[in-house]
Amino acid sequence: MANDQVKTAEDVFETLSTYMNKEHVDFVKKAYNLADHAHREQFRNSGEPYILHPIQVAGILADLQMDPETVAAGFLHDVVEDTEYTREDIVKEFNEEVALLVEGVTKLGKIKYMSKAEQQAENHRKMFIAMAQDIRIILIKLADRLHNMRTLKHLPEEKQRRISNETLEIFAPLAHRLGISAVKWELEDTALRYINPQQYYRIVNLMKKKRTERESYLSDVMSDIKLQMDEMEIVAETSGRPKHIYSIHRKMSIQNKQFTEIYDLLAMRIIVKSIKDCYAVLGIIHTLWKPMPGRFKDYIAMPKQNLYQSLHTTVIGPSGDPLEVQIRTEEMHNIAEFGVAAHWAYKEGKKVDTNKESIDSKLTWVSEILEFQQESSNAEEFMESLKFDLFSDMVYVFTPKGDVVELPASSVPIDFAYRVHSEVGNKTIGAKVNGKMVPLDTKLKTGDIIEVLTSKQSFGPSRDWLKIAQSSQAKNKIKQFFKKQLRDENIIKGKELVEKEIKAQEFDIKEVLTAENLKRVCEKYAFAGEEDLYAAVGFNGITAQQIVNRLAERKRKIRDQEEALEKITTVMSAPPIKKSTESGVIVKGIENLLIRLSRCCSPVPGDEIVGFITKGRGVSVHRVDCPNVQNDEAHARIIDVEWEHLDTQVKKEYAVDIEVSAFDRPGLLNEVLQVVTESKTNIAAVSGKTENDIAAIHLTIKISNTAHLNKVADRIKQLPDVYSVQRIIN
Ligand code: MN
Repeated sequence: MANDQVKTAEDVFETLSTYMNKEHVDFVKKAYNLADHAHREQFRNSGEPYILHPIQVAGILADLQMDPETVAAGFLHDVVEDTEYTREDIVKEFNEEVALLVEGVTKLGKIKYMSKAEQQAENHRKMFIAMAQDIRIILIKLADRLHNMRTLKHLPEEKQRRISNETLEIFAPLAHRLGISAVKWELEDTALRYINPQQYYRIVNLMKKKRTERESYLSDVMSDIKLQMDEMEIVAETSGRPKHIYSIHRKMSIQNKQFTEIYDLLAMRIIVKSIKDCYAVLGIIHTLWKPMPGRFKDYIAMPKQNLYQSLHTTVIGPSGDPLEVQIRTEEMHNIAEFGVAAHWAYKEGKKVDTNKESIDSKLTWVSEILEFQQESSNAEEFMESLKFDLFSDMVYVFTPKGDVVELPASSVPIDFAYRVHSEVGNKTIGAKVNGKMVPLDTKLKTGDIIEVLTSKQSFGPSRDWLKIAQSSQAKNKIKQFFKKQLRDENIIKGKELVEKEIKAQEFDIKEVLTAENLKRVCEKYAFAGEEDLYAAVGFNGITAQQIVNRLAERKRKIRDQEEALEKITTVMSAPPIKKSTESGVIVKGIENLLIRLSRCCSPVPGDEIVGFITKGRGVSVHRVDCPNVQNDEAHARIIDVEWEHLDTQVKKEYAVDIEVSAFDRPGLLNEVLQVVTESKTNIAAVSGKTENDIAAIHLTIKISNTAHLNKVADRIKQLPDVYSVQRIIN
């Protein structure tokens, strides 16, 4: 943190009055007076009066611009633990909120950290978050730890090392996950000073030596940029970016690099007034120096999960060395330094309620809101979902790797899955919370570790998920999925109808459905492409007859002429003999090949397929995504195959294996079988097993094409307690 001088209580109040009104400053002053009185006979290891410690903690919180309750709790954080004052006294003198914060910090102080292993550190962090129902408790605890680190020199060496290790394992990662880089860096650097003093001072000295050289180079670069910015009347603060001792140490020891390799990388930061200026400055820099390809990152348009926003680029600077540049607004810079704390930052003139209005709509929500405005057609629905996200509590949960994910309260694993990625959401078949399988409607709690189980073979979300999911992001993605699925189905249906109509009008499909004809008709009806055309037919927006009349216009003219000719010559030709193949699959241009459908992935009409030539056993046909087709050897012998009939008139049946996962209950199997039978589908085999209340039902069913298969899967998915249906590759 920038300001690490020892502060007086007056200094703290002065900082507070720069951003709080008088009434709130007085509220905090009262907390100081109580703490001062409570600790009056206590002293720290340094021999100084104890009150110095709470003053520094409150000072750090004031630097983070925290709200009155948090700063007051900073002053009071050791009062209940170490003096005769009780929780009730705090409620009486202040309010329930301050008491909760103080109590939370006291509780956290009682966790014993004995961790060495990474795994254990993870558990402690988890426990930490879970115990602190309010993130502000962790912010106070971090401020407490930061000041204890600053005064570590007064403790015996053995304690210094233990506390420093704990800081590296628990507190610095916690600060990092909450995005409070300012605190994280100071914690790490200080801890290194006690754990590995030789290395720490070596790096400090090396940095000192190089400093003058670097600073003069950077100031040249900056004056070049400034000249251009002045011309465009852009007000900006530029600075060299400080490198942190601990991060240099990590790079040197982990990547086994020399100091010069790391430190010679030049880096600078430009802070401007508006987003518009960010992009303008980027333009200036890319005009002055050549940008390095692949190094430009736009975290303004695509903010990171921990709210970080900035433009990053690397250019070849005037000396020919790479120069890293970060460009951001003041507000973005605040978030980069203070992360989650920026959420709770005090807003001018009004008390901030942590659970409600404090969620600044400019932060996490930016990307979501933009997405919504593009996707949501219904304005009312849009406002509703927005209201829910902005005015509900949040939960903070972990990915298995330990990253914090912020979700609206009452979120379920589905919300988490869609936050990770929409494809993860769509392919979700189950979830583990803290290592245990749970139903997908389990409400997540702060501190939970969520692991989403996915399967490539999943048929996608169930419609019930719309009722279970809490976040507008997840709901939107699920709706999108069904919209797209519906469109896909309509495209297939539309194409079938058009082909049927072509046959009914006694034309040849291949001759009528040419790219040229399709393009002409799409233009005629203002469709963007043939998919739109088929979707419109499938949706009954336009009839197949209308389309085919247009498609076959020219053909019909020719046919009319031919018919006229025929009448004159009265020559009859024999009708073509139509052959149907055993497998339903044909190899383009080659007849009479032995073709087998592979047993491993059981392709059915509608699946994308490939064939590969086997020794002496003809052509084996697989689904494109079958793992057995993935190896190189197979690729060499791949040939193009296609389904003979995609229309529903030809009823050939194919055996397909599917697995239904569900929470077990009496009657479940019967219901599954009944639903399958009701959808006019034959069952070839059934087996099932139950483990930990999870039932896995394996069905072999006879299917005529993918549309049929999807229909059956959809019906099964609608049964209560069924949470996934997937196709199996043997
Ligand atoms: Mn303390």
